[in-house]
Amino acid sequence: MHFPCDRVQSLAALKALPHLESIAAIFIEPLIQGVAGMRLWPVGMLRELRTFCHEQNILLILDEVMTGFGRTGTMFACQQEEVVPDILACAKGLTGGATPLAAVLTQEKIYEAFLGKYAEQKAFCYGHSYTAHPIGCAAALACLDIFEQENVLEQLPAKIEHLNQALATLKTFSPVVEIRQCGFIAGIDIACNPTTQEPYPWQERIGAKICKAAMKYGLLTRPLRYTSGCDTIVFMPPLCITVEQIDQAMEALGKAIVEVC
Ligand SMILES: *Cc1c(COP(=O)(O)O)cnc(C)c1O
Repeated sequence: MHFPCDRVQSLAALKALPHLESIAAIFIEPLIQGVAGMRLWPVGMLRELRTFCHEQNILLILDEVMTGFGRTGTMFACQQEEVVPDILACAKGLTGGATPLAAVLTQEKIYEAFLGKYAEQKAFCYGHSYTAHPIGCAAALACLDIFEQENVLEQLPAKIEHLNQALATLKTFSPVVEIRQCGFIAGIDIACNPTTQEPYPWQERIGAKICKAAMKYGLLTRPLRYTSGCDTIVFMPPLCITVEQIDQAMEALGKAIVEVC
C-alpha cells in the first residue's frame, strides 16, 4: 500500500497545507532530529503540535527510537513538553542498546480499532520474524530493572549539566562553530572558516578524521554530514557514564579537533 506523504519543516508550514482534512497522521522525532544533523526543534513546538493534532483530529506519531529511555533526561522526550502521543515508536535504549528490540506503544482507542470478530476483518496484519524475541525481551526487562534499581533517571540532571559545562569549553576551540545539546545528545559542528561558518569540502571527510583521531584518546564516536551543512560530531554517551569520563571524552574530542583541523 502506498501512502502519499508531505514533508514539512515547521509547524507553520504544516498548518499551511491545503489538504489538512485528508491527513491521517504526523510523524516527528520529538525535541531533536537525529541523523538529520542533531537539529533541535524550537522549545514548545511539540506541545503546540499536539494541540494542533487534537484540533484537526490527526494522529501524532512520535519516533522516540533515539530519544527514548532517558536519552534527553526524561524517560521519553515527549514528557518534557507534557505531550502524550497517539503512537510512540521506540527501540535502541529499550535494551540499553545491548541487543535488538523495538516496540510500538499506542493508545487504547487505536488498539480497539483493530479488535473485532474474525469476520469483521479488522485485524492489524503486521509482524516481524523476531517480534517479541525472548532474548530481546529479557534484555529489555533487565534494562528497565536497572532504571529502577540504580535510579538512572535521577542521576541524569547533574551529569547532563556537567556535559553542558564541558561542551562550553569545547566551544572555545575555533573550528567549533555551534554545539547543540538535548540531554545526553550533543551535536558539535565543525567549520573550515569560523567567521563565515563555511564548511570543509565534503571530500576532506573532516568529521571522520576527527572521530578516528579521538579513538586514540579513548573516545569512540561518529560524524554526520548533511548535504549542504557542516560536519557534525555526535556525542551520545551511555547513561552510566561518569562525570570523569565525560571530561575524558571532551578532552579526547578537543585533542582530535586540534590535531586534524
Ligand atoms: C536509529 C533510528 C531509527 C531506526 O530504528 P530501527 O529500529 O533500526 O528501524 C529510527 N528513528 C530514529 C530517530 C533513530 O535514531
